[in-house]
Amino acid sequence: MKKMHTLALSIARAKLKGTPYKLNYAVTYRCNSRCRICNTWKRYVISPEKQKEELSLPEIDSIFREVDLSWLSLTGGEPFLREDLAAIALTAEKHNPHLQMLSIPTNGSLPDTIFKTAELLLEEMKIPNFLITISLDGGEELHDQLRGVKGLWKKARETYYLLKSIEDDRFEVFLEFTISKFNAGHLKNALDSFGVADYSHVVVTAAHSSYFYASEQTDLHEASSLLQAHEYLSLQNFSTPESVIPYIYGRLLEKRFKKIPFSLQCVSGRSSFFLDPYGFLYPCISWDEPLGKVKETSLRELLRGKKTRSLIEKIKKGDCPRCWTPCEAYQTILENFPLALAAALLK
Ligand code: SF4
Ligand code: SF4
Repeated sequence: MKKMHTLALSIARAKLKGTPYKLNYAVTYRCNSRCRICNTWKRYVISPEKQKEELSLPEIDSIFREVDLSWLSLTGGEPFLREDLAAIALTAEKHNPHLQMLSIPTNGSLPDTIFKTAELLLEEMKIPNFLITISLDGGEELHDQLRGVKGLWKKARETYYLLKSIEDDRFEVFLEFTISKFNAGHLKNALDSFGVADYSHVVVTAAHSSYFYASEQTDLHEASSLLQAHEYLSLQNFSTPESVIPYIYGRLLEKRFKKIPFSLQCVSGRSSFFLDPYGFLYPCISWDEPLGKVKETSLRELLRGKKTRSLIEKIKKGDCPRCWTPCEAYQTILENFPLALAAALLK
């Protein structure tokens, strides 16, 4: 990512104005994976009719008119299952002139669709930082087992190399390894199986149970998870500016696993929000505390509302599930950079 400074400037501008700058928007809960650590895919197996309630493009267009974003993450479900994904991103850009970063996580199951959408977006949009992150949980057998779909590893690998062939300095492809007790000791093997020699574009996340993942598993980690975090940090050389935040995240993840407290005030609810596919707004992806529904109350009003203010106070006091997921932690690290770096470097 060659133009990260534009994101930093845009965030600084939003902070001066006191407005949120990041939106995590789950464009759909449709998912063609069957992951062991996430039950999102079950939502429409259980209630297929719910899918009709997802926001339409004109509704999404009205929402984007009401924000001034620097950073947009279009997540899912599997976001590339939404046929109008490119149109959603272009609508966001049209109404958000300060938008500097578009990120899209994917399970990599749809190589051609993902590649064509990336090419189309690079042709049509001017956002200077665009990244796609592909999930990788292990070598071929383990990945397919944990994702519950035979052949998914092959598809994800194909997607990875198609995206790697794109030459555009606005675009980067990352791999994201989700640490859980199910893939302990498999990080290096997973990366080797993909033929990855340079680990600078590899990030880790910890498996979480939350409303967003429709999962209430409480034993996703054990001592082996700490070893995975160590392994990640030892493989990385953190030589590029964009690897500093993942490094700090990884170091603080280690501390979480070791139960060493560090004090960073989460900025969700003030700087970032999560919007679900039906238009319910939340402070973050980890806390089932809806602030309201954008189909009924304007987003602007919800952001200024009493419930939002009261949740911000709770978050400041740490009176929330206190997660440590990159979707939310990265902006907390960015905004508390000196403190976060010091916490990461301290033994
Ligand atoms: S982790 Fe992602 S790919 Fe897997 S079921 Fe959940 S939403 Fe789908
Ligand atoms: S710490 Fe996690 S659960 Fe708490 S507000 Fe921040 S993102 Fe949400």
